[in-house]
Amino acid sequence: MECVRECSQSVSGTHVGQAALLGTEGDMWDPDEVARVCYERYNALPRRGKPEGGREWTQLAAVVQVTRCPDTHCVLKEVVALGTGTKCIGRSAMSPKGDVLNDSHAEVIARRSCLRYLMEQLCVVMRGGHSSVFCRADQTGKWRIRPDVSFLFFCSHTPCGDASIIPMTESKTQQRPLLPPANQESAHGDRKRSAESETSGVRKRLRVNRERDVGDDGMSVALGSVCVEVSLAEQVCDVHRTGAKCVPGMPSDPRGPGRDFHTVGALRVKPGRGEPTLTLSCSDKLSRWCTLGFQGALLSHFLQGGMYFSAVVLGKCPYSPHALHRAISRCASVTGLPAGFSPHTPELLQSSVEFTHGRTHTLQSHDALQQGRVVPCGAAISWCSVSSQPLDVTANGYKQGVTKKSLGTPQARSLVSKVELFHSFLKLLELTDDSELPDSLRGKDLSSYLDYKVAADEYQQAWTGLRTQVFTLWPQSPRELLHFT
Ligand SMILES: [Zn+2]
Repeated sequence: MECVRECSQSVSGTHVGQAALLGTEGDMWDPDEVARVCYERYNALPRRGKPEGGREWTQLAAVVQVTRCPDTHCVLKEVVALGTGTKCIGRSAMSPKGDVLNDSHAEVIARRSCLRYLMEQLCVVMRGGHSSVFCRADQTGKWRIRPDVSFLFFCSHTPCGDASIIPMTESKTQQRPLLPPANQESAHGDRKRSAESETSGVRKRLRVNRERDVGDDGMSVALGSVCVEVSLAEQVCDVHRTGAKCVPGMPSDPRGPGRDFHTVGALRVKPGRGEPTLTLSCSDKLSRWCTLGFQGALLSHFLQGGMYFSAVVLGKCPYSPHALHRAISRCASVTGLPAGFSPHTPELLQSSVEFTHGRTHTLQSHDALQQGRVVPCGAAISWCSVSSQPLDVTANGYKQGVTKKSLGTPQARSLVSKVELFHSFLKLLELTDDSELPDSLRGKDLSSYLDYKVAADEYQQAWTGLRTQVFTLWPQSPRELLHFT
């Protein structure tokens, strides 16, 4: 009954503007509902950091907490963390002080924002309070997710990298001309069904692929030309492209015509501004989170096992469940990980509801003469459900609007930068009674961010397992960038 009370309190306290939704177990993973609750949360945020209407676009990602009540079968879906952004900085702009956000893609910002939320929830339980996320686990000093809680990950667009290499198929025998604009909505509406049918082996579908283009940040975008497939004898004629390049050590893409352009299943690094980055694509990171958990090394000190997404929901966008599954499940064969860690393949779903600040929608509403070129928005928004400073807007890895002079000072840092998340972790540690210290933090002399990460031995064992068995070419972060305190 406690859960029912919480559900109703939460809903009456937040309602639509705060994006919480009370439903039943039957529609627990309804992708349109998940998308709507994320867009509502985004819409409720102030303008700061959002794209300029009709000229700029961005991408959105969010973590949705789902709480079930076993007695009433009611389900509360609540956005607990959100991120927007499309940019990534190059090697030369990385900071040894952990104060710059290297990767500001929406998925990464959303996950880091979620870490702030989880840390606050852990602070609550450490102080003896009641958390809506955690309950005590059996090992000393360890916590686990309450049995009635699960997490979903939402992205308004297919993650960059491997999942974006989406086959475009055509039938030799029956290809139809472009649909008039009036029919496009129904064509889009059928997309979800067509994507679903791909996994069930039904080969009759309707596909929408207009103008192929590579976004300014190199993300694959394929929108527009409409080809209708009705034959069983369809074949892959091309693939959507990703701007993320194969990691060093891996043969590069053949860049041949059509479907021979890309290698599939490869680890890829994100494009920066003309300079290569050391940052892995969102497909690769998502695949890693599905094996090691999305809590990261630091929080794993306090958690028994990894935290995994039960489902990944995409907005209306070019999407292939096959490509997304391929990208995420590359780690499915990994074995021998420590207890509590194992590859989890989330349920994959797509919504038919579009993000209005996304690229497709912006291009459609764009007036080229009035507004010039459509560009990705330079800012990244981080928001999470915490009591103090939930919103954090950055540009170029620093707080938006900081003066050149204040770069490098604490005021210029994002609250989701490595160093700020590390300091939140240290505060959590201060709250921990000595008798409640987990084994991984006992009797060790630790001071730097790297020290604490390395000391998370079970997480590191799991990471070593993943790296030696599947992701052998995953580039290591330069150690000199992790020694800050
Ligand atoms: Zn990305």
